[in-house]
Amino acid sequence: MNLARFPRRRYTAGFTPLEPLPRLSALLGPELWIKRDDLLGLAGGGNKTRKLEFLVAEALREGADTLVTVGAPQSNHCRLTLAAAAREGLHCRLIIEERVPGTYSPDALGNNLLFDLMGVESITPVALGSDLGAAMAAEAAAVAALGRRAYVIPGGGSNPLGALGYASCAQEIMAQSFDQGVAIDRIIVASGSAGTHAGLLVGLTALNAGIPLTGINVRRPQAEQEANVHALAVTTAALLGTPVPDRSAVSALDRWVGPGYSLPTPSMVEAVRLLASVEGIMLDPVYTGKAMAGLIGLAREGVLRRGERVLFIHTGGSPSLHAYAPALRDPVLQPQ
Ligand SMILES: *Cc1c(COP(=O)(O)O)cnc(C)c1O
Repeated sequence: MNLARFPRRRYTAGFTPLEPLPRLSALLGPELWIKRDDLLGLAGGGNKTRKLEFLVAEALREGADTLVTVGAPQSNHCRLTLAAAAREGLHCRLIIEERVPGTYSPDALGNNLLFDLMGVESITPVALGSDLGAAMAAEAAAVAALGRRAYVIPGGGSNPLGALGYASCAQEIMAQSFDQGVAIDRIIVASGSAGTHAGLLVGLTALNAGIPLTGINVRRPQAEQEANVHALAVTTAALLGTPVPDRSAVSALDRWVGPGYSLPTPSMVEAVRLLASVEGIMLDPVYTGKAMAGLIGLAREGVLRRGERVLFIHTGGSPSLHAYAPALRDPVLQPQ
């Protein structure tokens, strides 16, 4: 696997920490570790930073002066794309998909406030079910009409080029695992637009790591998500020139999605509050809270065995916590 062949910007100095979670392990049984990708570079960190290192390098190579992308009203991906644009001296335009009707508000806190602070050029809300590709193409055409040049980044940065960021994370994890003398038995990660899950799988396969990877879905039914992840793994492996992962290696569990994308669940609230109170680590309500709820559930069910070394990838997202305060604070769940 030769990632140095691909143009890359650097937004993080060195590796993110690979840390033990001793107090959580004592509560749950398995020996838990965490990969702190919430501490990646760019405003607020999180997994999109790794993808943007490759995507923005490509945008600059093409001579773009404007990044265009799409996300939900509290999108971490939009926040980080905007931060990369600010860092590079580019403009940034956002399409906001209202995945839960009525949830876009220009006054919302969390990531939405940060869009404003980082100087977003425009925000265009569209309804769930809109053709997002067409909406972004229209935005790119509007940029071109000004005599400028847009580079369109798909939702979540999840195309083969973006997924390289997580093939590189697999390489980083294996290097740390060897360096720290920590042999990992299983990796657990949130699975959304699929680039993180697919990129990790491609990297682990290329490195012949022999570590099973379990995705915890935040949006889609299991079969649909597994097909998405596998399709992206196939095209990412082709770009990288490495072996295609088996379909049987793709596991994306949907039991912790709850009523839908970004909608709070009791197990998410428990997971966010538990990690905060026993380890001092902030998860997020939409992705890592549900993924950690999955890890906790699998440990309680005995699927994760006592003493098994399990690495949880913390993909970030805590800047959205304040936008979900009522659901997180109150033990009786309220609509977001
Ligand atoms: C986007 C995101 C994910 C999911 O990653 P995908 O590559 O979209 O599957 C997980 N956690 C956080 C905090 C995210 O913002």
